[in-house]
Amino acid sequence: MLDFDPAALRARYRAERDRRLRPDGAAQYRRTTGEFGYYADDPYTPRAERAPKRDTVEVLIVGGGFGGLLTGARLRQAGFTDGIRIVDEAGDVGGTWYWNRYPGIHCDVESYVYLPLLEETGALPTWRYSPGEEIRQHAVRIAETFGLYSDALFHTAVTELRWDDDEAEWIVRTDRGDDMRARHVVVGSGTLSRAKLPGIPGIESFRGHTFHTSRWDYGYTGGDARGGMTKLADKRVALIGTGATGIQVAPHLAQDAAHLYVFQRTPSAVDHRGNRPTDETHLRDREPGWQRRRMENFLTVITGGHADEDMIGDGWTGTAALQRKILSGTVRADLTEEETELADFLKMNEIRARVDEIVTDPAVAELLKPWYRYMCKRPTFSDFYLQTFNRPNVTLVDTADTGGVTAMTETSIVAGDRSYDVDCVVFATGFEVGVSGVVSGLLPVHGRGGAQLLHTWARGPRTLHGFYSHGFPNLFHMGSLQNANSVNFTHVLDEQSQHIAAVIAEARDRKAVRVEPTVEAEEAWLATIRAHARDNLAFQADCTPGYLNNEGKPRPQNNGFSPGPVVFHELLRDWRANDGYDQVLVTA
Ligand code: NDP
Repeated sequence: MLDFDPAALRARYRAERDRRLRPDGAAQYRRTTGEFGYYADDPYTPRAERAPKRDTVEVLIVGGGFGGLLTGARLRQAGFTDGIRIVDEAGDVGGTWYWNRYPGIHCDVESYVYLPLLEETGALPTWRYSPGEEIRQHAVRIAETFGLYSDALFHTAVTELRWDDDEAEWIVRTDRGDDMRARHVVVGSGTLSRAKLPGIPGIESFRGHTFHTSRWDYGYTGGDARGGMTKLADKRVALIGTGATGIQVAPHLAQDAAHLYVFQRTPSAVDHRGNRPTDETHLRDREPGWQRRRMENFLTVITGGHADEDMIGDGWTGTAALQRKILSGTVRADLTEEETELADFLKMNEIRARVDEIVTDPAVAELLKPWYRYMCKRPTFSDFYLQTFNRPNVTLVDTADTGGVTAMTETSIVAGDRSYDVDCVVFATGFEVGVSGVVSGLLPVHGRGGAQLLHTWARGPRTLHGFYSHGFPNLFHMGSLQNANSVNFTHVLDEQSQHIAAVIAEARDRKAVRVEPTVEAEEAWLATIRAHARDNLAFQADCTPGYLNNEGKPRPQNNGFSPGPVVFHELLRDWRANDGYDQVLVTA
């Protein structure tokens, strides 16, 4: 016997979604360019002048986050002792972990499976869920271990890639006047990397201090990512946004500010975290190969495959069946749609009950309860966030009925008919949705015969395995593109980097003139993707708006390989073992 009415819950979810749907959808946001460009400035590393580069490298990697670092490391392992150049807009390596240094930042996937190359670099995270600074330093460690600093260029944005047919090289231009050449180019410029601002009328008129969480201004707040922001002691601070970032930031702002106003439009689902220092009890297996075994185990469990044990046993592996609604990767379809929905209702009931257990004011608790299915938004985990609302210096301002904050004036934030005077506004309002500069058009690419990549892809991307395209030789894409994804994104990037390095090494060994998939291979991969495509539209349309469903206007997603990452990685290994290289190496 159920102690709740599923039909009533379904109706409540619809009503709560409808309260938040906005006609302008994703267009409500503003880019951090033009008049708002200063929101994207680097607060961490001074920009150094340098002479433009005019040289040639073997492999140029766009992006120094984990994707680029892993590719650099795998290429070194494949014998490329020099000629690897990482280019990044940031002042150092680290990608998302370079930019995001807000107080409280941690990875939300277990660090023993999230931080790549632990065994190769002799590192061990000090916490089960590492603080961001430890992850950033690990990125630096990878760059140092594999000698990736020597040719790197930072504070440099690649502005154009142009293939030179005669020399069989890429001409790479940047915003620093570089005019370089590279035999191969790997684009690993990230997915959630461009900060966005909310489209709040009057946002530009506010005269107090503002910044985005991915450019934290410790000069203004004092302290560091561990907290201690003593300069906020006399400040009234507004936090706009309660996603995965907002829930990590809020407890620290509450601790240090005179008063914190949390402006919420949709509450996150906040589950138990249980972070703890690393000890031998949860890393019993430390025999060589332990990290790969653990990563594979995590991936298998969360995608519903068979594993003898769940080595990680946390909030991700415990909700594997629910995640498969939105992520690709059903290896074992063991639940019917009805059973999945029921499991989802039960999980979300548990999350809502947790709010009641922790938050003492029943009216505030009510506002903090999420009314949508589990994977409509990225689930979050915290043992501090909900407790924050029991503090006397914290006010929760619910903005669901007004589509968010309604206006900003010179001194205040307006929500509906109430106005709140504040000294500082922190935007935890997220990032432009995950495509690389190549796909968004920010980085123009001209391939063989001058063909423009986005013209060639006018009806959608065309790749083999998401990596490369006919007409665009020696160009490799990393990230989510006609391949398989996972919440442990670094694992996905690791497999991609191994594949790319293997192909480039094979091209070297066979003296290939270019790496370029045949039209037939590309067509076959597109057909495979289409054959497996799963229709997720109905699920997405029922979801509360967010970046995962294009702000309530879901689009058909035929870009992923539905059988999921375990099958995809196996497929890549088979392809390499069975000489798939013939599909991409042009030898004469
Ligand atoms: P999100 O896009 O998830 O959240 C943005 C927040 O801003 C939402 O709460 C949104 O409300 C709110 N918002 C936007 N506009 C307004 C407005 N006009 N008025 C009021 N509120 C507004 O961004 P995050 O930075 O939180 O997270 C992005 C992604 O980054 C995560 O999903 C995750 O993938 C990753 N991440 C991972 C972490 C980790 O530990 N590994 C930590 C942090 C982030 P609404 O929901 O109503 O749209």
